[in-house]
Amino acid sequence: MITPAPGGMAPGEFRRWGHRFVDWVGDYLEEIGDYPVLAGTKPGQVRDALPTEAPLTGDPFEAVFEDFRSVIVPGMTHWNHPAFFAYFAVSGSGPGILGELLAAALNVNAMVWKSSPAATELEEVTLGWLRSFLGLPSVFRGTINDTASTSTFVALAAARERHLPEARQDGMAGAPPGRVYTSSEAHSSVLKSVHALGFGRRGVRAIATGPNRAMDPAALAKAIEHDVTSGFRPLAVVATIGTTSTTAVDPVGAVAGIARSHNLWLHIDAAYAGVAAALPGMRRHFADWEHADSIVVNPHKWLFTPVDCSVLYVRDPAQLREAFSLVPAYLETPETGVTHLMDHGLALGRRFRALKLWFVMRYFGREGLRNILAGHIALARHLADRVDAAPGWERHRPSPFSLVVLRRSPTGVRGRERDALNTAIMERVNESGTAFLSPTEIDGETWLRFAIGNIHTAVHHVDTTWETLRDAADTIG
Ligand SMILES: *Cc1c(COP(=O)(O)O)cnc(C)c1O
Repeated sequence: MITPAPGGMAPGEFRRWGHRFVDWVGDYLEEIGDYPVLAGTKPGQVRDALPTEAPLTGDPFEAVFEDFRSVIVPGMTHWNHPAFFAYFAVSGSGPGILGELLAAALNVNAMVWKSSPAATELEEVTLGWLRSFLGLPSVFRGTINDTASTSTFVALAAARERHLPEARQDGMAGAPPGRVYTSSEAHSSVLKSVHALGFGRRGVRAIATGPNRAMDPAALAKAIEHDVTSGFRPLAVVATIGTTSTTAVDPVGAVAGIARSHNLWLHIDAAYAGVAAALPGMRRHFADWEHADSIVVNPHKWLFTPVDCSVLYVRDPAQLREAFSLVPAYLETPETGVTHLMDHGLALGRRFRALKLWFVMRYFGREGLRNILAGHIALARHLADRVDAAPGWERHRPSPFSLVVLRRSPTGVRGRERDALNTAIMERVNESGTAFLSPTEIDGETWLRFAIGNIHTAVHHVDTTWETLRDAADTIG
């Protein structure tokens, strides 16, 4: 018979390993710059190094930890590395990591208020803090989801509920074909959500962008008017503040006016850039975003909160409940005037994600967070100046936040040849293990994204990586 022991581990064992693991994490964070950013792992290598079955009797934890260090860690791409500049560079932070530890220990499931009152109420309080930090009006109510993909799905499900009520009873079969409008630069998660909601590929209308890669409002208005007269049911517009490819900003004011005049749901995808709304110098990029019905911002992207933590703000949470509330008898509780987070999305069970975000906001404070964000934007400016001053290099503009989009473009090298040159430069840098950049395509041409946003990044990491890029370019020719 198994004797009940703390956490199912032998007495004292949890504490012993806990201390060792925290020491390992401390060393890892202090030495992170010495790791190769990008794993040199071959496909299947990690799988092949591990047994195909779980052990019959438990393994000693010493052996487990040894495999973690010798098999798992070398197969990691280190997002914490200060020269991780790919995708959107994200990093957790000490208070966020410690928040995850305590949330795992409490292991609550805040589906209804009663199932964890403090988890529900802390989520409300912390998202109120974040809302005010971002300068959003208090009418907005937040909920934490795992990712922006889920937040956008939830927002568009609420839009379907409001603007295609036929679907509620009979499903999509008898309903008119719905349409969601977004720019051709929108994140793939918008398309995925529309497909998953049953609108099919025709359900998304990609609106052309102007030279700034921002949505062309005239094209949007024209598309909606055309659809209204052709039997489609326009439902929603998704505008982006800070697109993934180049951090373009859609003209939210004009888009909001068009959405309002057609009575459409306006969702704003600010998954990456949203936190920059906390900086007075960046506010102009967020003009009119308070006219949205819903907004997604990811603290796990640029607010030093460990993955996962995405916040969906909605103007009217009743509309989320319309779409998602379905209370079986076994979940009924007597309290009134409380929030049941299960009513705000697809998931019933949910992790206590508010704790780590609360820790991050308390530890750094509003001023501390603003300083880190402003520091990243200053680093991006610093790099942009260097790129602009370098002959044979080009920078894509505008990119107002902490991403720099650049390419090598020597005289006389164009088209596919220039694309191949940039891919080769990037691969050379990435293979060096000293930095990691990712590519994007603009008008069918290859550019390199140098995304700053990691809490460990200092100016010398940016300078060294820029030199590495230039050296690679010189070597390749
Ligand atoms: C990263 C990103 C997303 C997707 O975020 P997930 O949380 O990974 O789903 C959506 N939109 C934009 C603009 C992004 O940059």
